[in-house]
Amino acid sequence: MSYNVNEKGYYGDFGGAFIPEMLYPNIEALRQNYLNVMAEPEFQKEFNQLLKDYVGRPSPLYFAKRLSKKFNTKIYLKREDLNHTGAHKVNNTIGQILMAKRLGKTRIIAETGAGQHGVATATVCALMGLECIVYMGEIDIARQAPNVARMKMLGATVIPATSGSKTLKDATNEAIRDWINNPKNTHYIIGSAIGPHPYPDMVTRFQSVISEEIQWQLKEKEGREHPDYVVACIGGGSNAAGTYYHFLDHDDVGIIAVEAAGKGIQSGKSAATSALGKEGIIHGCKTLLMQTKDGQITEPYSISAGLDYPGVGPLHAHLYKTGRAEFYSATDDEAMQAGLELTKLEGIIPAIETAHALAVFTHKTFKPDDIVVISLSGRGDKDLQNYIDYFNL
Ligand SMILES: *Cc1c(COP(=O)(O)O)cnc(C)c1O
Repeated sequence: MSYNVNEKGYYGDFGGAFIPEMLYPNIEALRQNYLNVMAEPEFQKEFNQLLKDYVGRPSPLYFAKRLSKKFNTKIYLKREDLNHTGAHKVNNTIGQILMAKRLGKTRIIAETGAGQHGVATATVCALMGLECIVYMGEIDIARQAPNVARMKMLGATVIPATSGSKTLKDATNEAIRDWINNPKNTHYIIGSAIGPHPYPDMVTRFQSVISEEIQWQLKEKEGREHPDYVVACIGGGSNAAGTYYHFLDHDDVGIIAVEAAGKGIQSGKSAATSALGKEGIIHGCKTLLMQTKDGQITEPYSISAGLDYPGVGPLHAHLYKTGRAEFYSATDDEAMQAGLELTKLEGIIPAIETAHALAVFTHKTFKPDDIVVISLSGRGDKDLQNYIDYFNL
């Protein structure tokens, strides 16, 4: 069984590139070049230098002593929250902005939901002096004002998506439309391990620095490269893909994914894509997708804007279908409690997305000598108001 993408861009039954004809030259140029460009020593050098000096990598692998005691197992946190801009997303935007420059592009577009990917994209565009346009649902613009302000300060133009539910899915549609109209000079930086091939693989490879570091960091601390489990939350699946990547072909490492159950899987207000999804096509790839019987996309819901997406990356759909990964889903309430618990026990306020991964302990009991590595995908500063409202702080 292979968990890597094949030459046709598929992970088992999922993936591919379902795109309008107008985008074919762009996607084809990317497909033909991305692996060669990424392998160039000059590219590697520039990418690694920026990850080190600009992002602040390697991110620490932190042994969470009090959390471990509470759940009677050995818990390590991979601290992506300490990256510049506060989450794992910048690993990917650094990689893609360098790719865009190699492909001769001068204009960058992106979609964003909560605004984290928009901020990470606006940041690297400021860094490289490139024009940046971010599409964002009108509703998200209203509820994520601080991130909108950050993007504007960084020099990006934020364009509201006013169709449909006025959230992430609609912003993505607008970004694709823009790319169709500006195919020559524009690169589209997709923010997760989704979209047409080669995006899921490219994003996964840029994020794979996470599991690359876990291997040597764990070797230093525990004398072995492989944990018993790696755990991550799943929106589109990029922090998870990066956390799993170097362990996918090693059966001694258990892979755990935690999705957002919202108000409960059966409540009609959730984003538990693999549990509820059926095969379908969204934003250029075939994957598991929340949809009605006649194929209309169902509106997802989660208290966490970063997990509020009706699909999941094709790698994760494959991991689900083959049983390589265990999937759990955490409700809003379970995630909020897990976020508060980490704060009280370890002095770390996690992003609410990340708090879903931490809620794994309400669903699964680990053995005392298991080593469990959790992707701490982002910090909670952006979610402070949500925490305040939820806990009446
Ligand atoms: C965007 C985001 C996520 C979800 O995106 P993935 O592509 O699934 O990783 C998770 N955590 C944080 C902190 C985020 O900002």
